[in-house]
Amino acid sequence: MTAITPDSLTVPRKDAPEAKPNLVGLTRDGLHDALIAAGTPEKQAKMRTGQIWGWIYQKGVSDFAEMTNLAKEYRTMLADNFTVARPEIVTKQVSADGTRKYLLRINGGHEVETVYIPEEDRGTLCISSQVGCTLSCSFCHTGTQKLVRNLTPAEIVGQILVARDDLDEWGIPPGEKRMLSNIVLMGMGEPLYNFDNVRDAMKIAMDPEGISLSRRRITLSTSGVVPEIARAGDEIGCMIAISFHATNDETRDKLVPINKRWNIATLLQGLRDYPRLSNSERITFEYVMLKGVNDTDADAHRLVRLIDGIPAKINLIPFNEWPGAPYERSSNNRIRAFGDIVNAAGYASPVRKPRGEDIMAACGQLKSETERGRREKVR
Ligand code: SAH
Ligand code: SF4
Repeated sequence: MTAITPDSLTVPRKDAPEAKPNLVGLTRDGLHDALIAAGTPEKQAKMRTGQIWGWIYQKGVSDFAEMTNLAKEYRTMLADNFTVARPEIVTKQVSADGTRKYLLRINGGHEVETVYIPEEDRGTLCISSQVGCTLSCSFCHTGTQKLVRNLTPAEIVGQILVARDDLDEWGIPPGEKRMLSNIVLMGMGEPLYNFDNVRDAMKIAMDPEGISLSRRRITLSTSGVVPEIARAGDEIGCMIAISFHATNDETRDKLVPINKRWNIATLLQGLRDYPRLSNSERITFEYVMLKGVNDTDADAHRLVRLIDGIPAKINLIPFNEWPGAPYERSSNNRIRAFGDIVNAAGYASPVRKPRGEDIMAACGQLKSETERGRREKVR
C-alpha cells in the first residue's frame, strides 16, 4: 500500500503514471520533438513550437485554453497530453527592505528557496540549482545540508516563472525596464555540479523570443569546479563569479573544501585560460569577510598579488550569520580597510549589502528556516 502523505496529495509526482509531461524546461528542440510525438504534423511543428514558446515564456500563460492563436482542437490535444507547470509557492516572505523570499515545493515534496532582490537600477533573482549541496563550505548554511537532488531545467526555469507571476511582469515589450532584470545562480547548490540542467535552463532564460535576458545579466557563481568553468563559458556564455574567500590553501581548504581537489594555483590557472576573459567581461571574485580568519591587510595584499593579470572585480561579502555558525562577521572598519587595499591595486571592490536578513534570505542563509522547522517537527 502506498502511504498518503500531505506531499503526495498536493504535488503530482513526476514519476506517477498519470503525470503529464511538463512543457516548461524543454529546450526548443525538445519541445519540437514532444509536439511531433503528440501528433503535430512535422510541417507545422516549427511554427507551433514558436507559438507555444511565446505563450509560456513571454506571456506567462499556463493554461492551454488561453493560447488563442492555436486552433481549439489543437489546444485540447495539448491539454490532454501536457501541462505547463511551475513549482508551488509554500510561503512568500517580504523583508523590510523589499527583498522577497519564496519557499517552493517541487516534485517529491522537496523544498528550495528563491530570493528576489530589488535595487534602484535593477532587480535580481537569486536562484537555486540543487536541493542542498554536496560540498560543505564551513561558513555556508546550505553546506550543512546533504545533497538531496539536482533540480531539473523545469524547476530552475520555474523559479523565474514564479517570480514573474508574483511581480506581475509578463508581456513587457523588449527594451522596457524590468523588475526582474538580472539572474544570479547563487542560491542553494553548486551550479557546475548540475551542469546540463543549469545550461538548458539558462538557454531558455536567454532565448530572445522568451524570457530574453542578456547573457551579461546572468551570473553563475561556483566554488571552483575548475574543469567545468571553461565549459560554462563555451556552452552558456554567462558571467562567472568565483567563491574565492581565502588567500592561502591552508585557509581555503577549511573554508571551501573543494580546494583540496582544485587548489588556488589550479583555479587561477583555469581562470587565466578562460576563453572569455577580457576587460569588459571581468570575473567576479567573491570574498566573504570572516573576523580573524581571512580579513587581514596581509590577506588583501596577497589577494591582489594572486589575481594579478586577471580582469576582475572583488565582491566583499559581510558574513551572514546563521544559528550555530562557527564564524563572525568582520567589522565595518576592517572590511573598509581590506577594500581600500584591493581598490588601490586597481580592482573595484564593492561591499555586498546584506539583503533580507530579517527573513533569513541573505547569502548563505538559505534553507535554514525550513530545516529548523523540520527538525522541530521531528522532535
Ligand atoms: N555554490 C555556489 C553558489 C551558491 S553560494 C558557490 O559556492 O559559489 C553563493 C555565494 O554566497 C558564494 O560566494 C558563497 O560563498 C556565499 N556564502 C555562502 N554562505 C555565506 C554566508 N554565511 N555569508 C555570506 N556569504 C555566504
Ligand atoms: Fe555549496 Fe556554495 Fe554553500 Fe559551498 S558556498 S556549501 S558550494 S552552496
